[in-house]
Amino acid sequence: MMNAFESFGISPRLLETAEKAEEKITPHLKKTEQAEQENQLKVLAAFKNNRVSDFHFAPTSGYGYDDSGRDTLDRVYAEVFGCESAFVRQGMVSGTHAIASMLFGVLRPGDALLAATGSPYDTLRSVIGIEGSHPGTLREFNIGYRQVDLKEGRVDIDGILDALDEKCVKAVLVQRSRGYEWRLSLSISQIEELCSKIKAKRPDVIIMVDNCYGEFVETREPVSAGADVMAGSLIKNPGGGLAPSGGYIAGRADIVGMCAARAISPGIELECGASLVSPKIFFQGFFMAPHIVAQSLKSALFCGALFEELGYQVSPRPSQPRSDIIQAVRLGSAEKVVAFCRGLQSASPVDSFVSPTPSPMPGYESEVIMAAGTFVQGASIEISADAPMRPPFDVYMQGGLTYPSAKAAILSAAQNVLDLK
Ligand SMILES: *Cc1c(COP(=O)(O)O)cnc(C)c1O
Repeated sequence: MMNAFESFGISPRLLETAEKAEEKITPHLKKTEQAEQENQLKVLAAFKNNRVSDFHFAPTSGYGYDDSGRDTLDRVYAEVFGCESAFVRQGMVSGTHAIASMLFGVLRPGDALLAATGSPYDTLRSVIGIEGSHPGTLREFNIGYRQVDLKEGRVDIDGILDALDEKCVKAVLVQRSRGYEWRLSLSISQIEELCSKIKAKRPDVIIMVDNCYGEFVETREPVSAGADVMAGSLIKNPGGGLAPSGGYIAGRADIVGMCAARAISPGIELECGASLVSPKIFFQGFFMAPHIVAQSLKSALFCGALFEELGYQVSPRPSQPRSDIIQAVRLGSAEKVVAFCRGLQSASPVDSFVSPTPSPMPGYESEVIMAAGTFVQGASIEISADAPMRPPFDVYMQGGLTYPSAKAAILSAAQNVLDLK
């Protein structure tokens, strides 16, 4: 065992630290295992209730009328996520595409969007029109924007309620995950409290959740906690590491219909869209997702515990609650961020020989470095790390299809950082 790790360049000293880290995370694994079990039963029940069968796995072409695989997958997602309706499409390009469709589906000219959890995820800032100068933003369609920042890392409920005095605020955007921010993810019970306070003041306001990286971390999703609609990416949690692309929007049926009208076309909405790839991989990925998310959480816990042992600040700390799969490590210098990403990449199954380099990315304003030696290009449910190249030089790692492979990649990242000194 020692030798096998040593052939990956991991020193005996780091392996000792890794053992300590594994001991430290043991008490925190129970919660993850319980959530995995409960979520797996929910998924299984939805497959049974919707009579998922071999004939649902046939690809379709053209308009995709009466595509029973697609329609059944929509129903399975809706049931598991506690929603009236779900719009799951392999042709959705990314999480940004799904979330942008949700924003444009809900908001109308003259309305304003309120971001309740501070500045939204990098790519969404371009969609809203508060960063960059791209055509077709919310702003160009005369949709206003308000933002209430987090206060000491927590949702500023009073600030949000004050902002709701403005009648033009028609929708609230809540980001569950930390994104590239040094803050804790929002738990489902925090989302529930936030939704009930918003609705008590403004029952007409539509609450939208950016659910990226959150699915299956807890045993409920935001819509069952009072949100109206949520969206996410299939190359993150719900694709279970198998979905080769796609996104979803799920929630109240009328709102999902509005979002599909925007994403596809009014009049067509949920009725068309061929399954060019067999829906099987999407069903199987969703079936695997509770387990894969649990493996990712264990990997994140290990990474946090290991770097804490090595003397770095980490967020969340191993003992803190999690509602997404991201682990942040404050490395403190550009060299260490690059070393971490290169180490992680070099112990990945695909493109291990590639050396990640910071570069501009579409939708992101600062340069970004990304390590993703993944089967599905850029899939961050597979072991991966990203960092915007800006102080204080935090790296964000997430994913891991299997804990043993993620552990190897994390140790390789740590070794590379240690070797800098
Ligand atoms: C990943 C992510 C998105 C969407 O990003 P894509 O790369 O377009 O899938 C949006 N919000 C958050 C919090 C995310 O993690």
